[in-house]
Amino acid sequence: MKLKYSIVLLFLLQGTVWADDSKIERVEPPFWWTGMSNPQLQLLVYGKDISVTVPELNHPGIVITGVSKVTNPNYLFVELEISKDIPPCEFEIFFKKGKSVYTSFKYELRGRKQGSSSRKSFNKSDAVYLLMPDRFSNGDTSNDNIPEMLEQCDRSDPDGRHGGDIAGIINHLNYIRDLGFTAIWSNPLVENNNPFYSYHGYAITDFYRIDPRFGTNDDYTRLVNESHKRGLKVIMDMVFNHCSIHHWLMQNLPGTDWINNNDEFYRSNFRASTITDPYASVYDRDKMLTGWFDTHMADLDQRNEFLARYLIQNTIWWIEFSGIDGIRIDTQPYSYRNFMTEWSNAIFTEYPKFNVVGETWLQQEAMTAYFQKDALNKDGYNSGIPSVTDFPMYYALNKAFNEKDGWTEGLLSLYYVLAQDFLYAHPDNNLIFCDNHDLDRYFPKVNSNIKKWKMGMGFLLTTRGIPCIYYGTELLMTGEEKKGHGSIRKDFPGGWPGDSVNAFTSAGRNKAQNEAFNYLKTLLKWRLNNKLIQYGKLKQFIPENEIYVYFRYTDDECVMVALNNSNNEMKALKPERFDECMKNYKYARNVVTGEVINYLTVLTLPPKSILILELKK
Ligand code: CA
Repeated sequence: MKLKYSIVLLFLLQGTVWADDSKIERVEPPFWWTGMSNPQLQLLVYGKDISVTVPELNHPGIVITGVSKVTNPNYLFVELEISKDIPPCEFEIFFKKGKSVYTSFKYELRGRKQGSSSRKSFNKSDAVYLLMPDRFSNGDTSNDNIPEMLEQCDRSDPDGRHGGDIAGIINHLNYIRDLGFTAIWSNPLVENNNPFYSYHGYAITDFYRIDPRFGTNDDYTRLVNESHKRGLKVIMDMVFNHCSIHHWLMQNLPGTDWINNNDEFYRSNFRASTITDPYASVYDRDKMLTGWFDTHMADLDQRNEFLARYLIQNTIWWIEFSGIDGIRIDTQPYSYRNFMTEWSNAIFTEYPKFNVVGETWLQQEAMTAYFQKDALNKDGYNSGIPSVTDFPMYYALNKAFNEKDGWTEGLLSLYYVLAQDFLYAHPDNNLIFCDNHDLDRYFPKVNSNIKKWKMGMGFLLTTRGIPCIYYGTELLMTGEEKKGHGSIRKDFPGGWPGDSVNAFTSAGRNKAQNEAFNYLKTLLKWRLNNKLIQYGKLKQFIPENEIYVYFRYTDDECVMVALNNSNNEMKALKPERFDECMKNYKYARNVVTGEVINYLTVLTLPPKSILILELKK
């Protein structure tokens, strides 16, 4: 697994950097902006023996404040300070050997877009559509096979590339909007030039380049702009814990201290509990933090300050370049804690209203809450990451409707997840979901029972948090993780030219799929711009007799949600117990059917059902 120092020929020089010859192969970030809050900029300069040179520049408002060499002589880290008020410009940096100029390059500082720093982000008013770009839609067949990329398209291989791309997403933005979603989270779109299993996006080979099989950097910006035109926000998926062994930096390491366990393959134990466990052994915690995620994913050591800056600047570069509305961070607990705090501080210094959700794949509430911003952690740790993925709620949602209610089972499992919200600093900002690209599809998890599926969707869209729904859920898509990731990441029918079925249209969906689609659409459309369900308070009553009732409310409005978890019993619900929420209301409207219920004295609930009522005075 030893990654060697060696120069490889690179395909092309990225971005707006003009070297006077080929002595400089890369400068990253490829360009930057004037008027950033942080005036400092670290340039990674890569070229044969560049470290023997001394950089100089002469431009008003820009000074070199530091030059650092690392073990590999082909790297130089140049620290710039950029005065806040200078206009957009190009300037030249000269790399000198003695009195003669060895090489030089021109660097560009662009102007920021109006309102860039004050941009708003995603929050609990949103409903997020998660899609896997290789598997959603192929809008441009001309990019399916690109000769210089190591893996070509093979739609017959569940682990191969299928040809989905940014053009395909743009083609179906109206579909996503019309379903009632307000945000898109796409799995990573940056380059993954790996010889096999490269489609998923989590083994990055270039942090600054959209994979050409998905499109170009400008296509990504177009996706953001086209989404914004339709009122959709875009959440970018970022990976800091690891990158591909085929990344050019890994092929030519600046120093061995950029990655952990370079000598032989050492797999992580995937036990994020070791980070919060006060009794954790050093052995276990080190294995968690320094072990590799997979054989082709080198574990990045963000304790290296140059690497940390490199990753932080890459994040800011994408926010500023593309205009995205938010970020999802892969494998948050696997990165060094202090790095995540440093990263989030830097992001929120530039974009104070931004939101970020960290993937915190943990089984228990307390450990999940630890990784959210402002958690009252005994050790004083504050990640600065405002949102976390609510895996405890996911686990509860995947068993609640299959189990018979007990003291902690069935509906009680949902109740107990929420009863522990005192642990979270910002529970309303948790991302909530029934499944995702790593997990069994929800429909088979509830035994392909559409009644249970509706209970899950209804709960997800009415409880606290930011609901996130995985593409294909609206089609009752099936798939199990144990059958391979291809099983849970199937192609969206109709996303490819010549597909025999087009499920983007009602005619292409079967009866059950249309029932599911319409159910989801009705709830999402109702949730859209509904301040009560987005921002209202939550009150829950302990599930009794297989019935769980909760309310979303303000002083003037109230929504009642009731779930019946019985397999065969119709239940009659007497409102007396819920008087503190219901006493001011005389009648109700069923949100799904539109039916008006004139009397609230007795409510009936069919077996395995969810009732969502807007209470009226
Ligand atoms: Ca394509």
